[in-house]
Amino acid sequence: MIASSGDVRRERLARLRVDLPAHGLDGAVICHGPNVRYLSGFSGSNGLLLVLSEEACLITDFRYEDQAEEEVNGTVEVLLATDGGIAALADRLVDRTHVRSLAFEAEHVTVRDRRELGERCASVLWEDMPPAVEGMRAIKDPDEVERLAAAVDVAERALDEALSTVREGMAERELAAELEYRLARHGSEGPAFDTIVASGERTALPHASPSQRRLAEGDLLLLDFGATVDGYRSDITRTVVLGAAKPWQREIHEHVLEAQAAALESLVPGRPAREVDRAARDLLEVAGLGERFGHSIGHGIGLEVHEGPRLYRESKDVIQVGNVVTVEPGVYLSGEGGVRVEEDVEVVDGGYRVLTSSSRALREL
Ligand code: ZN
Ligand code: ZN
Repeated sequence: MIASSGDVRRERLARLRVDLPAHGLDGAVICHGPNVRYLSGFSGSNGLLLVLSEEACLITDFRYEDQAEEEVNGTVEVLLATDGGIAALADRLVDRTHVRSLAFEAEHVTVRDRRELGERCASVLWEDMPPAVEGMRAIKDPDEVERLAAAVDVAERALDEALSTVREGMAERELAAELEYRLARHGSEGPAFDTIVASGERTALPHASPSQRRLAEGDLLLLDFGATVDGYRSDITRTVVLGAAKPWQREIHEHVLEAQAAALESLVPGRPAREVDRAARDLLEVAGLGERFGHSIGHGIGLEVHEGPRLYRESKDVIQVGNVVTVEPGVYLSGEGGVRVEEDVEVVDGGYRVLTSSSRALREL
């Protein structure tokens, strides 16, 4: 296991403490699990992280007592709540009268919890959290890239093994189970997201969940899945053919690879993220397939499978060194089949480094 050092987390907290006053805030209450983990190291399911200018504490419950102390390793104080996290938070704030405005993560707080925050911490002005933590998370440090690369490696080992088990008559769900079993054997903490295995005409469904459909000779077979290593998630897609590829299957696969190559070449630090999407879309439009590419070209990966930067048509993000993103063009012909190929890529000085190493050529099983 590669441990995130306490220093890295202290530095992240320090950067947040600089950012919050610029938004007129005295502090923030972080409850979104990946953000709590990024700042404090705590990976449990119940954590409220209070960050003030001079102090930070994690509020969790008895189930996580030992785990929390071990994971935060002194970076922040750990408080155990007996009567719910918000009550403990209010207790903590009672004599901190200098705290007038706090941010909360509107996207992750329920209406009921928001009401309770208002009632129990009545003197605090609650404001929407600026995207400060997400902004930091979009730029990976070398430790994070190492974990992502490890998650890619685990996924690719599992892919090779799972493909060697493919045979006619096998159900999509059975292949998904083979894949997930092999991910676990190679060290994945769990699937990075719901594994997609689609075959035949079902490959035209970009987000198909595995069904009982049985694989048959001539089928396209699409696998989109990932591993989790130390909380970091890979996300890769390969489309293969059972038996010899038909000309139309080969042709759309070729168009997808060309679109992907164009997108990769536009992954340059300083460029608007929407240009990466544009580069792939332009090529597919020329091929008359623009309408058949209905999703975005990619997204950042990290502690979550979808995070910044967002690579879509209207994205306002800018590509930066340290981004780790997917590049995943696809073409979907309703009723016939679809092809998607997805790489995980790190943005480096002057360009990119592809973390995935599996061949992108169309495999015939
Ligand atoms: Zn994917
Ligand atoms: Zn993806």
